[in-house]
Amino acid sequence: MQYIKRSERPQLLATNQETWTISWVVYYRVGVEIVPPKKPTDSHWLKDEIRFLLIKDFHNNCGFCGESIPTPQSLTTRTSKGDVEHFLPKSKYPEFVYEWTNYIWSCKPCNEHKKEFYNVSYPLLNPCRKKDCENLMFSEDTGCYVLQERNRL
Ligand SMILES: [Zn+2]
Repeated sequence: MQYIKRSERPQLLATNQETWTISWVVYYRVGVEIVPPKKPTDSHWLKDEIRFLLIKDFHNNCGFCGESIPTPQSLTTRTSKGDVEHFLPKSKYPEFVYEWTNYIWSCKPCNEHKKEFYNVSYPLLNPCRKKDCENLMFSEDTGCYVLQERNRL
């Protein structure tokens, strides 16, 4: 896993994050009103200004498996072999739906595999956290990546 240094939050997100987030928080957190809210259908994270900066930051590669993902042909097309993955899942952390640091550029198989997974006891490695990347070592004995134990006492 390659460490990804993230760009500054795009202006479009900075301007609209608060407004865009409200309906998601209402749906997942309040959701028990007399008239239940409809699930939000907006996906502004696919907007070019956001998605293409993310793709650039991740050097066109999946943040989880490192596979190269072809850049979408058109700036406006939604069909892509990659997804804007929410590291903290929308259903569990709706307040981070439009949080720039919560986006991982991911290939579709990795996104499919991860789905809504988030577990405090078994946290996923985050390619944008330097510490997570530094602790990951390739073991020639097993041919697998393993976490170093150096930070544990
Ligand atoms: Zn992947």
